[in-house]
Amino acid sequence: NNIKPRKTLESIEPYSPGKPIWEVQKELGLERVIKLASNENPLGPSPKALEAIQNGLSELNRYPDADASMLKQAIADQYGVLPQQVIPTNGADELITLISEAFLEAGDEVIVPSPSFSEYDFGAHIMGATVVPVPFAEDFRYDVDALIAAVTEKTKLIYICTPNNPTGTYISKPDIEKLLNSVKGALVVFDAAYSHFADEAEYTSGIEFVQAGYPVLTLQTFSKIYGIAGIRVGYGIAPEFIIQAILKVKEPFNVNSLAQIAATAAIGDTEHVRSSQSVNKAGREQLYKIFDSLGLAYTKSMGNFVLAHIGPEGERIYKELMAKGVIVRYGKTWGLPEHIRVSVGTPEENAFFGEILTGLL
Ligand code: PMP
Repeated sequence: NNIKPRKTLESIEPYSPGKPIWEVQKELGLERVIKLASNENPLGPSPKALEAIQNGLSELNRYPDADASMLKQAIADQYGVLPQQVIPTNGADELITLISEAFLEAGDEVIVPSPSFSEYDFGAHIMGATVVPVPFAEDFRYDVDALIAAVTEKTKLIYICTPNNPTGTYISKPDIEKLLNSVKGALVVFDAAYSHFADEAEYTSGIEFVQAGYPVLTLQTFSKIYGIAGIRVGYGIAPEFIIQAILKVKEPFNVNSLAQIAATAAIGDTEHVRSSQSVNKAGREQLYKIFDSLGLAYTKSMGNFVLAHIGPEGERIYKELMAKGVIVRYGKTWGLPEHIRVSVGTPEENAFFGEILTGLL
């Protein structure tokens, strides 16, 4: 027959995230399997979100609010912006696709830090746009001059993941100012999925640039600090004309009703946010100590994960960790075959990872 998918799809492979815990348990017949591979919240979901979901169950015969107006208002209040400057989505992943659909045409260029989150490439590729990777400087620090030098007339989107997944490094405020003052005609997207874990004075999620009226978008998620990755809620904050463009490609009921209720409750759960922050801070230190004691280099992280340099044995170690019930992310997907990325777990999980890793070296 003559049925053919779009030509631009030929070079795209379906995305395959890490294996879930139950699958590894079943495959390997292991009792204890821990997953430190997807930067989830080891404390679990916000209890307020769980309570809110219970109360929302009886309304499941109704369609969700297409406008997610309660959630939008809660987000707007939190950041001191207007609800019209907010767009909730089915996870931040969906937002990246929507941004791509709204702002890219075939042949456009998208600047992406390298290594970084893979969805930016995916969004560019589905639109037939070209990805222009810009490597980090030494120690995975942002190289703002290299980013600026990569801009051409075809550049339509610039992704700045800060803190960056998988390196945990961030871009400073002065560097952002430099970038924004020299780039015109391209939308700068700050992916601030891990912003709540960043505790440096020079860090910003980019929100103050939205508030100041710059044509930029800050992307956020409920999957990390709020601990509700499974229900899929993310959002963007940007000047209204950017939100208006994205609304044109959004399907009406993109955020389901339980997700709206859960996220609205979670954003007000400051207690859960604070304890998640302190568990993460202590957990990062615990992982640093483990790597220090083993003489392994790592990058200081502003996120809820640590990128460690294992060395030429990286692949063996990654596989043997898995075989012993510790799922981490192997760096090869980012062109870092000697690295692994380890999400911060509970103190017990971090210690278990440390014990197993020590036994393998
Ligand atoms: N941005 C970054 C940098 C991420 O690491 C992730 C999740 N892995 C996302 C966005 C997507 O988050 P969500 O679960 O909301 O789709």
